[in-house]
Amino acid sequence: MIDAMNRRNFLQLGLTAGAVAMLPRAMSAQAAKAAQPNASAATTPIKITKLYDNLYLLQGEGGNMALQTGAEGDILIDASYAPAVPRILEAIAAESKNAPFMLINTHWHGDHTGGNEGLHAAGFTITAHQNTRKRLSEPQEMKLFHREVAAAPAGALPTITFDDAMKIWHNGDELNLVHFAPAHTDTDIYIHFQKADVLHVGDIWFNGVYPFIDEGTGGSIGGMIRASEKALAVAGNTTKMIPGHGPLGSKADFQKYHDFLAAVRDKVAALKAGGASEQEVIAKRPTAEFDGGLAKGFMNADTFVGIVYRTL
Ligand SMILES: [Zn+2]
Ligand SMILES: [Zn+2]
Repeated sequence: MIDAMNRRNFLQLGLTAGAVAMLPRAMSAQAAKAAQPNASAATTPIKITKLYDNLYLLQGEGGNMALQTGAEGDILIDASYAPAVPRILEAIAAESKNAPFMLINTHWHGDHTGGNEGLHAAGFTITAHQNTRKRLSEPQEMKLFHREVAAAPAGALPTITFDDAMKIWHNGDELNLVHFAPAHTDTDIYIHFQKADVLHVGDIWFNGVYPFIDEGTGGSIGGMIRASEKALAVAGNTTKMIPGHGPLGSKADFQKYHDFLAAVRDKVAALKAGGASEQEVIAKRPTAEFDGGLAKGFMNADTFVGIVYRTL
């Protein structure tokens, strides 16, 4: 399964070199060099894109981040990997002279929370869905990768959590934080900056590639589709939508992604209902019409179809 993926991106998802070694094929030379997980995040520059007067998209390794600046203190969405923290602080300093205020995690995965401890030490209070705190507090297994994830240190844990939704009025904007029912994981939230009209949907959207769904921590294809519908109901035609991975998008882009998820779900469900095994469904290539556009990421079509089949 791993050999058909892009190993660099696979490592970027948060796998340790040791976890890759556990996988059936030998490690690539590139993977073997990754002695420290995600060490390259320490030197990868962070690209800053202005989305609104005081709101920026930050893209380095790991998940897409957003930064809201202002005299009331800065809010950061997501924390990439631990080695990226100095680069993140530089990116913030390039746009802001304000004090740190809050770090919001979109979900528990290490490519979004790896920098939590360092950013907390830099002054950010961490906020997330209560399941993110729970997942980070205990060892987790990422089933697809046969990977054990250790419990996070105390300084990395969210100290403000919520269940269904929370509102934050800050720096002249009104932020809606809303939990998706289990989708990519059971910890996913969206953050909508209502005045700026920027919507960060986390990893329910991998823009331009096949999405990863973490079946080991509550993810499912049905949940991804329902979460997409929830996000579509929030977005307007001019909303700037930040995916967990990939380029900034529009509601129209996101609608296409939703329709792709639903089309694959329908095809796989029909085959499964007819008695086809997972391997038989994969062999029928139910994603063929999308492969040209989406197969360039770290998930290949077969792996994605397997997840869809298993989580129906
Ligand atoms: Zn991610
Ligand atoms: Zn994720």
